[in-house]
Amino acid sequence: MNEPVGGVAGADAMPLTDAQLDHLRRELQRQQGALHTELRRMTGSLADVREARSDASADDEHDPEGPTLSSEWSRIAGVTDELERSVAATGAALERLATGTFGTCIRCGQQIGFGRLDARPSAALCIACARMA
Ligand SMILES: [Zn+2]
Repeated sequence: MNEPVGGVAGADAMPLTDAQLDHLRRELQRQQGALHTELRRMTGSLADVREARSDASADDEHDPEGPTLSSEWSRIAGVTDELERSVAATGAALERLATGTFGTCIRCGQQIGFGRLDARPSAALCIACARMA
């Protein structure tokens, strides 16, 4: 009845297999590609809004910062911020994969379960630490 545990803590804390790591690496690379595409699209939209704004100021209109352009600008800037954070998180996860620390919580050092990583490959914190964050 006394199975050796081998220093691995927790039922959910099995070290990741090579197949699981490969799967997560591919998923991260796919996500990063998609994020970069989306970010380029958003950056293009920001440039469009900026251009529309300067066109408006060049006119004799009295309201160069019209509410439509301003709110569109904030919306795109918000999405761009969010995308940049995701790109950074995904890049950091790929770096941890390269250095062999992937799958380990960056706060407490516990193994992060595959279930959590499969749902969110860029996760840097275990569930317990993520709840505290
Ligand atoms: Zn943790």
